[in-house]
Amino acid sequence: MVRVPARGQEMTFEVSRRSLLKGMVGAVAAAGLPHSTRAEGPVVKSDVFSVLVDIPRCIGCRACMRGCQRANDLDAPQDLMDMEHLESRLEPTHNLWTVVNREGVETRRHVKRQCMHCLEPACVSVCPVAALHQTEAGPVLYRESRCIGCRYCMVACPFDVPRFEWNNGLTPVIGKCQFCASQRLFKGLPPGCVEACPTGALKFGRRDEMLFEAKARVHARPDVYVPHVFGEEEVGGTSWLYISDVPFEKLGFKKNLPKRPLPSLTWDVVSWIPGIVAVLGSLFGLLAFNLSRKTHSPSAPKDEA
Ligand code: SF4
Ligand code: SF4
Repeated sequence: MVRVPARGQEMTFEVSRRSLLKGMVGAVAAAGLPHSTRAEGPVVKSDVFSVLVDIPRCIGCRACMRGCQRANDLDAPQDLMDMEHLESRLEPTHNLWTVVNREGVETRRHVKRQCMHCLEPACVSVCPVAALHQTEAGPVLYRESRCIGCRYCMVACPFDVPRFEWNNGLTPVIGKCQFCASQRLFKGLPPGCVEACPTGALKFGRRDEMLFEAKARVHARPDVYVPHVFGEEEVGGTSWLYISDVPFEKLGFKKNLPKRPLPSLTWDVVSWIPGIVAVLGSLFGLLAFNLSRKTHSPSAPKDEA
């Protein structure tokens, strides 16, 4: 405790033995916290909604982009959303939630991107006002009414998905794929992009079924597909899964993503903070206690001449 002195008095520190002991016990207890109370590996959420993207089947028609715009009543300019403009690279924006671009150098493929609807979403774990949240059925949803515009989600997302409405100075929002949850999924309909795809490059279902389907396709055509389902394990698993005939890293997919969910990695760091704070608090407490004792100890007897 710091006692504010009356005018003319020296400031003194008083530390009770009880509070000192409490601090030290707290330090020991906090330092002994488990490193992670979250999942250590891929998360088991087999029945969430899922989409399988079969990259070799995509012809780059961008019908899925238009389907997304229709389903979600978005107003991004339509003029680039056709095959003639495929050489024009498109980036997602707050009102363009999915894009299809030509990727790769030696072998080119059309790759659709959108929110991956992670099983353990980093964006949700960092949002301080729960503007982003995960539904039981899997879709990770954004609530505009709660958003304070801090943009932590943009920093946290390992797939660079959330986009900010930079041109709105007053009430900017974040834009990202909502999995057509309220418009379609919860009414028993597939997402707008899946419905619009004319080639079957997108398949909608439950995640365990889509994972099974992905592995079956890869297994049946080892001469075509690379032996990897992107999204099965990356960052703990995602609801959107991809199979490809070109190594994923050659199509711009991130390599070496951790298998553990990102929120659990963050928790490893965060869980040490109470311990560090408590230890520092105890050290300061000890210092203050010693200072206090010195202040109150009787003066040494003066030498008698
Ligand atoms: S891809 Fe990004 S925005 Fe989508 S759920 Fe995962 S962390 Fe959130
Ligand atoms: S609608 Fe299907 S084929 Fe067309 S760009 Fe989208 S995923 Fe590819």
